[in-house]
Amino acid sequence: MIANPTLSTFDETNIFFDRAADRLKLADGVRELLRRPWRELTVSVPVRMDDGRIEVFTGYRIQHNGARGPYKGGVRFHPAANLDEVRTLASLMTWKTALVDLPYGGAKGGVQCDPYKMSQGELNRLTRRYTINIEHLIGITRDIPAPDLGTNSQTMAWMMDAYSQIHGYTPGIVTGKPVELGGSVGRDSATGRGVVYVMTEMAKDMRMSVEGGRVVVQGFGQVGSWTVRLASEMGCNIVGVSDISGAVYSPSGIDVDRLFRHKQETGTVTGFPGADRLTNEELLEIECDFLIPAAIERVIHAKNAPKIKAAVILEAANHPITPEADEILNDRGIPIMPDILVNAGGVVVSYFEWSQNLYQQHWEADRVSEELSKIMTRAYGAVRDTKKREGITYREAAFLIGIKRVAHVTELRGFI
Ligand code: NAD
Repeated sequence: MIANPTLSTFDETNIFFDRAADRLKLADGVRELLRRPWRELTVSVPVRMDDGRIEVFTGYRIQHNGARGPYKGGVRFHPAANLDEVRTLASLMTWKTALVDLPYGGAKGGVQCDPYKMSQGELNRLTRRYTINIEHLIGITRDIPAPDLGTNSQTMAWMMDAYSQIHGYTPGIVTGKPVELGGSVGRDSATGRGVVYVMTEMAKDMRMSVEGGRVVVQGFGQVGSWTVRLASEMGCNIVGVSDISGAVYSPSGIDVDRLFRHKQETGTVTGFPGADRLTNEELLEIECDFLIPAAIERVIHAKNAPKIKAAVILEAANHPITPEADEILNDRGIPIMPDILVNAGGVVVSYFEWSQNLYQQHWEADRVSEELSKIMTRAYGAVRDTKKREGITYREAAFLIGIKRVAHVTELRGFI
């Protein structure tokens, strides 16, 4: 990961924010209010480890902006989770929920830990203590957490249970739960599904063919693996895939069913028979049609941006491209579809899940996919039209739409 050492990730996201704020001619006070998180909480999370030791982890919940509705955002378990990163992700949630027009604000949470090195018992205890320590900030009309990097439906089940022990059975307190506990069908695939919807719409406009299109996906977790599965079902040629242990590459295409079996058996995509082994850095520089970073932040930076050979980039991960790299790629004419649009499918189906919980309903899978497709296609159309009308990039257009909506509601509510 090579980034400009003088800038934090929050500074970097605010470069994108400021460009849109300038174009919107936001008044200084409004700009300041929209830039900053409204509330930040840091908590100590003591956990009894399996060997009897007590380890104290650090956790965060940051509520960036609640002008448009309850705060909404995932919880990340990762060794690099810190205040700055969680702040960045919380602000991206504000612009994302506004862009896809959900009645939510933006938040994010995180615990600095390595979930891959912890037992299920340790993770259960960590999740419960974290939930209890942020319990006074969250609520079904206040702030609704969800899974993110290093967390999953099991984590959400534990969070829901810990919260429910204090407040009574409250499935709507988190989204991304197991279906048996009030989760929505289609939530696990939702972010990946949103990625391929945006890819299809973008390809149509750019007269590119999805069928046979060469796809590279970095990350094979919740988002990356579903993106690979669904893109392959649409006829794409998956040429490169990676996870934290490395990448596999086959110019003639990877057999996706076999790759899933290999991952299930070995726990990783590396070592997949018949494919070349590459590093994660090399994977990003493969010649392809659709490059989809779906792992962590800042993987495309000033050093490797000149070497990217993709026709287009779709940001399935949050903030995978630094502002410097963004400029280089813009100058090179490589279109970038931004994170706040591409990976919004997850929060859209989280919204469906929350609504189902409030009304005690259960939607069928077809309804979830149909409604998701409608929202993603509408948001994509708005970004494309704004880009064309204003003569700006897709990212600038997406931020412009999101920020304008939040600024408008801020004024309507009379905060300032
Ligand atoms: P995950 O934990 O399920 O999977 C992460 C994947 O990335 C794993 O395959 C892991 O091995 C790989 N990875 C981790 N560190 C890596 C590294 N240094 N280099 C290469 N690969 C690495 O996480 P996820 O939920 O799939 O989230 C991935 C990204 O998508 C994150 O940026 C997250 O914020 C974003 N996102 C997730 C959702 C969601 O619904 N889960 C929604 C919107 C955005």
